[in-house]
Amino acid sequence: MAKYVIGIDLGGTETKIAIVEEDGRIIEKKMIPTRVFDGRITVVTRIGEAIKELLLESAVSSSKILGIGVGSPGSIDHDTGTVLFSPNLPDWSGFGLASMLEKITGVQTFVENDANSFILGEWAFGEFKGSQHMIGLTLGTGVGGGVITHGILMTGSSGYGGELGHTIVEPEGPLCGCGSHGCLESLASATAIVKMAREYSKRFPKSSMFSAPEITAKVVFDSARGGDLAATMIVERVTKAMAIAIGNFIHVFNPEHIIIGGGISKAGDLLIDGILRKMPAFVMPSFIGTYSITLSRLVENAGITGAASIVFYRLS
Ligand SMILES: [Zn+2]
Repeated sequence: MAKYVIGIDLGGTETKIAIVEEDGRIIEKKMIPTRVFDGRITVVTRIGEAIKELLLESAVSSSKILGIGVGSPGSIDHDTGTVLFSPNLPDWSGFGLASMLEKITGVQTFVENDANSFILGEWAFGEFKGSQHMIGLTLGTGVGGGVITHGILMTGSSGYGGELGHTIVEPEGPLCGCGSHGCLESLASATAIVKMAREYSKRFPKSSMFSAPEITAKVVFDSARGGDLAATMIVERVTKAMAIAIGNFIHVFNPEHIIIGGGISKAGDLLIDGILRKMPAFVMPSFIGTYSITLSRLVENAGITGAASIVFYRLS
């Protein structure tokens, strides 16, 4: 009998909800605005309603649902499914998200930080599924990290572990949202890339980046692809920061696979080739050939399949 789970990719702006089969196939999906300002109770009640509608539309009986997995931004107590702190969900601190969803739906619910759910999604459904040693990096508004080592999701003593985005790669570098300087997030997130481009506007006023109606990370990568000097300098700095950070992760975890996802991963070869070219400078020769660095192939549905995989991981 086929087994199904419900994956919820909870975002600050929109929430994606799907019924996912155990092979990662999406049976039915729905996207609803999160509308955080309505308050957490209303938001979760709305999610509960959307789940009921999905079940009706798909004709999957709720008795066949193994569980609900939620990938949430912020720090999560994953034993209790409580949101400890989330900058994108300001009034959710200390909120028992799992227990409330369980109350509404009657289905057991598990919550994980969204970067952890990204790497669990790769472990369950990705190109290297089942690998026991994988590292995931999500490059979006921020930089998220997740580590699977010896087949286990690494969480640390308080559940905060795996914050790879706050590894410092340029001690004198830009100020990060966390208060430190030169974190990977302050150099390789979309926010950081746009900030760098703005800072270059005085030195390189004729750069093609500034002819776009709005500077975005995509504009920077597209300009670099077109041979623009300032954009190329930014991409070089981003890929160097990534290579330094990944080199450190390789020395600590000896992973088989490093998988990069998030919006910035759409930069494709420009991003990955830049990182790969720089890697030999930042890893000990004995590690050469022990790892692969690739872009996630799950991009479009990585959030919901990642959230769904939390259930398969917890019940495995
Ligand atoms: Zn930081």
